[in-house]
Amino acid sequence: MKAAYFKEHGGSDKMIYGDYRDPVAGAGEVVVRVRACALNGVDMLLLDGRFPPPEGLPHVNGCEVAGTIETLDRGLGTLMPGQRVIVFPGFSCGVCEFCVRGERTLCLRYGYLGAHKDLWVTGHSFTAFYAVLPVPHRAAAFAGPDLVHGYYEDDARVVLEPVRALLAEHGIQAQAVHKVGHPAEEIASYAESGEFDLLIMGSHGVGALKNLVLGSVATKVLATCAVPVLLVR
Ligand SMILES: [Zn+2]
Repeated sequence: MKAAYFKEHGGSDKMIYGDYRDPVAGAGEVVVRVRACALNGVDMLLLDGRFPPPEGLPHVNGCEVAGTIETLDRGLGTLMPGQRVIVFPGFSCGVCEFCVRGERTLCLRYGYLGAHKDLWVTGHSFTAFYAVLPVPHRAAAFAGPDLVHGYYEDDARVVLEPVRALLAEHGIQAQAVHKVGHPAEEIASYAESGEFDLLIMGSHGVGALKNLVLGSVATKVLATCAVPVLLVR
């Protein structure tokens, strides 16, 4: 999309009009195609740095907008694409004494989109996924369901916990999910079963031929999965 934004603080000469990352509607959210935008005093404070955007730079100014709904999270009641809307940019915590009394604009943690929270970057949710290879049938029958189940849980925890910890270190909260089965099939079917916008996976496993060919799991997922895939070398 196109946007007017700034990468450094200063006067109007710092404003850039150009390509900007497309917003994505997260859970319970809509993307609005902006048709009109007011200039609010806070936009000036954000631009010249008296009120640095809490989420850092670059920043797209403008919190009072009207437009039409472009895309929306599934299950948002009566809202429909193309519908004309005015954005009420304020958000409140819902639990402080003022919110509880219904006086949400007096909220102790009151803020608004475009100022306290970047209007254009919606909160994404992340899932770390791991497919556990199944224990062969005869071994599973011998060990019994409890032992096998415990093995799957342990195996997944060993892989997923460090991933989740690493993401948390970088400020990304991710839920951890594992399924038992063939990795390519499980990854593809889980990606399609959830409402995922993007599947990110490594291109190679840890096999001896890892630098020669695209990993077989990645190849199969690419061939079968309907969700866009980002391969990381
Ligand atoms: Zn509140």
